[in-house]
Amino acid sequence: MTDIRNKVALITGASSGMGAATARTLAEAGVKVGIAARRADRLEALKAEIENKGGRALVLEMDVADAASVNAGAQKLLDTYGSIDILCNNAGLMPVSHVDEFKTDEWDRMVDVNIKGVLNATAAVLPQMIEQHSGHIFNTSSIAGRKVFGPGFTVYSATKFAVTAFSEGLRMEVGKKHNIRVTSIQPGVVATELAETTSDPAVREMLHDSQAQLRPVDPSEIADALLFAAQAPGHST
Ligand code: NDP
Repeated sequence: MTDIRNKVALITGASSGMGAATARTLAEAGVKVGIAARRADRLEALKAEIENKGGRALVLEMDVADAASVNAGAQKLLDTYGSIDILCNNAGLMPVSHVDEFKTDEWDRMVDVNIKGVLNATAAVLPQMIEQHSGHIFNTSSIAGRKVFGPGFTVYSATKFAVTAFSEGLRMEVGKKHNIRVTSIQPGVVATELAETTSDPAVREMLHDSQAQLRPVDPSEIADALLFAAQAPGHST
């Protein structure tokens, strides 16, 4: 097993859903967590929860679409805890709509957060991981990053295919050469606030109805899978 106690993780999108669950789970496993998102009040509440259980957390108010904001947050985490060993590129949004509605602002937002956010955080953290010749990057793609699930999910799926592709390419480039592990997380339906990012109330309702017919995974189950991968033995290169 890889000992991750006292390692440092940067988790984007930590103010709710899978990001918050991941922060709780990693902190319980002894990881110092940098919890990043835009809603600082949520992050402060999560930090208090983690610290009450004996964990360590640093609030990083961050917009992943803004490279300067990401760089500042990563630097603050480095200055506070001395390294960044795990990066969880988790922040994302899913405003579902049909392409012929031309909600181009929402398309842009998905590209900015779901794709460029992943690139911004990777660029902010990777140099330090390369320098220390170790690290683990988790990119949250989706089952929609492997298959297109019908009308409305087209642009979202395109962004998640991009995350899948980036993860595979990144693994090829930095895995052996720099001893950095790359894991693509591709969940199905998880019970989070993600559907709320859809602007059309009727489509939101449809998403809630379709979720009710399934047994959505709890965010903590995804966090457990991530923990398993983080602790799995590495291969020396
Ligand atoms: P949530 O809506 O609960 O969480 C999304 C998180 O992303 C929030 O913490 C939000 O924080 C953050 N976020 C959004 N925009 C930005 C931004 N510009 N900068 C920083 N943080 C941002 O949804 P999930 O937990 O479900 O989503 C997590 C990831 O999982 C996403 O990438 C999503 O696409 C993916 N996914 C989700 C599935 C599901 O069924 N729920 C299935 C497969 C993948 P804040 O608003 O405070 O900034």
